[in-house]
Amino acid sequence: MQDKIYDVIIIGAGPAGLSAAIYAGRARLSTLLIEKEKDGGQIVITAEIDNYPGSLLGESGPSLVGRMVEQAERFGAEKVYDTVVEADLLGDIKRLKGKKGEYAARSIIIASGAHPRPIGCIGEKELIGKGVSYCATCDGAFFEDMDIYVIGGGDTAVEEAIYLAKYGRKVTVIHRRDQLRAIKSIQDRAFQNPKLDFMWDCVITQLEGDGILEKMTIKNLKSGKETVIHANEEDGTFGVFCFVGYIPESSLFAKQLDLRNGYIITDDNMHTEIPGVFAAGDIREKSLRQVITAASDGAIAAMEANAYIEGYCLVNAGQTILQQPLAVMHTSPVG
Ligand code: NAP
Repeated sequence: MQDKIYDVIIIGAGPAGLSAAIYAGRARLSTLLIEKEKDGGQIVITAEIDNYPGSLLGESGPSLVGRMVEQAERFGAEKVYDTVVEADLLGDIKRLKGKKGEYAARSIIIASGAHPRPIGCIGEKELIGKGVSYCATCDGAFFEDMDIYVIGGGDTAVEEAIYLAKYGRKVTVIHRRDQLRAIKSIQDRAFQNPKLDFMWDCVITQLEGDGILEKMTIKNLKSGKETVIHANEEDGTFGVFCFVGYIPESSLFAKQLDLRNGYIITDDNMHTEIPGVFAAGDIREKSLRQVITAASDGAIAAMEANAYIEGYCLVNAGQTILQQPLAVMHTSPVG
């Protein structure tokens, strides 16, 4: 059993969690950040961030996140690498069980984000890391001067295809419709890139290879025609990069919180329906999932957690009102 009760525990060290840690730390809340893998969430696998205000020209995800981590640590947030496997959110003291330890806090900010959605074809799982990838920055260089295929038509797929064109002999975007979902400015850059090609109305049905990706079958959804693509003889392989959206990391909370399509429902101030439990970033049901909206959510969640702990709530007009009843007021002394 843990012996420390934090003011706030933040689950997930992506832009939402790190911003929450910066704001909670500055508010002098005792703060623990729990991250299961690598700091940064999805932005560590993002080649270039050019729409976060103040980001440097050509700034990479890892570079931006590195500064966020340093800032969160500067404001005193503690950090532990652990995977939370159980969460009891209902009491005044929220309790989490990880693979390595147990943790408790007066409030919780869930910023656990989302992971890449698989395309779901035969052979995909077996060939991950052997030709199939979900991260252009991590794996692009393995396909220098080879053929690369990017699956998806959203902002991520098209931006990462442009990035991968630095490496590949040719990059072909395979999209299931005949129109990209990506915003116009990203589309324009893609259509101007001479190394980019497009296969419309197509999906991959099978990926094959003996220990390495050698062959794939593509189906045209309009004509029904199947095409088999083999690796270039000299290369022996090719790259398939899948960017078809994300799956929220919310299953742990499904029994205690309201979810819609797997995303946690909050109000505009990041409150879930459980007092003292907040959600921030890509795990939330919302319209725009960006680094800037994640950072904004994290800041709001931390300030709301502070207000919850202090025993008041913030309201839109900037007034401060008493919130009754507050679960934390009934909490017996702990520490
Ligand atoms: P997304 O917008 O959900 O796009 C997913 C793409 O994958 C869509 O084109 C979709 O096709 C396709 N797709 C989905 N399931 C598929 C399947 N099973 N097989 C083949 N194709 C499939 O995801 P995203 O591009 O990762 O973007 C996520 C969010 O992050 C968005 O809000 C986006 O705006 C944001 N984002 C912003 C930036 C930026 O501003 N620079 C960069 C990256 C991401 P359909 O189009 O037919 O549905």
